[in-house]
Amino acid sequence: MRASWQERFAEATDVLKNPHRQQTVVRVLDFEIGGDAFITMAGPCSVETETQLLTTAHHVRRAGARVLRGGAFKPRTSPYAFQGHGREGLKLLAKAREETGLAIVTEVMSEDDVPLVAEYADILQIGSRSMENYTLLEAAARSGRPILLKRGMVAALPDFYRSAQIILENGNPNVILCERGIRTFETTTRNTFDITAIALTKQIAHLPIIADPSHAAGNRELVPALARIAVTAGADGLLVEVHPNPDKAWSDGEQSLDFAAFDALMESLDPLIELRQGRLCEPGCRLPLEACG
Ligand code: PEP
Ligand code: MN
Repeated sequence: MRASWQERFAEATDVLKNPHRQQTVVRVLDFEIGGDAFITMAGPCSVETETQLLTTAHHVRRAGARVLRGGAFKPRTSPYAFQGHGREGLKLLAKAREETGLAIVTEVMSEDDVPLVAEYADILQIGSRSMENYTLLEAAARSGRPILLKRGMVAALPDFYRSAQIILENGNPNVILCERGIRTFETTTRNTFDITAIALTKQIAHLPIIADPSHAAGNRELVPALARIAVTAGADGLLVEVHPNPDKAWSDGEQSLDFAAFDALMESLDPLIELRQGRLCEPGCRLPLEACG
């Protein structure tokens, strides 16, 4: 069986488990991704305004998130849609980190922007549309920052792992995979959430994998169910879009949770997280008992 995975992933064999490496643990600020704790990354699709970002950051922190997400450089389907605030957005993310202690994950779209984004972000996000941009992957890898690699929307798993391999080969072991849904014949939802990719990755690969139920569903009502499925499948964490007023969001409002929905989601995850990692510290703190100070 193991030999056949080696064959199927012949261009990404360093991503697969081996006798010396069963699980990569990525250290960010004062916590780990791929270790015992389940890590939630939450925040708006785009950085819009200081108030929008800071209120969201404080809220998700209180609800147990460890990482703030928010796009400063936005890959948009339409050239007429909001493209992001660039450097000003990065500065707001850094301010939110200072105020809350949350780590920052944000997308970098071009190799020219890697030094700038790496100056502000704790984790560089490579978006679905960029997964096969190898010059970007190489530049991002060489920045030395951990990389959150989102699966391309039409990428098969060998393609996805091959992109991870390129980051590893460029000297950066800190790769976090992210399943965010793929295109299939099913067009009722924005994408099809490939839960099998999470379960299989946990079995055969040593890299952490997190789930993005927001982009998978494209619909906020579906996000909590997909998030719970992801925990049960063994995901190491979540990436969730949260906005103070989703109906007014400048991007991806239809799939963004408001604060109350995010709180309800986090509470509903607790029993499932406890099943995988043992008793939690206390309600509201999602650290395992022994990891909490
Ligand atoms: C995002 O995280 O807002 C995003 C653009 O995601 P993806 O690259 O998965 O579409
Ligand atoms: Mn988005």
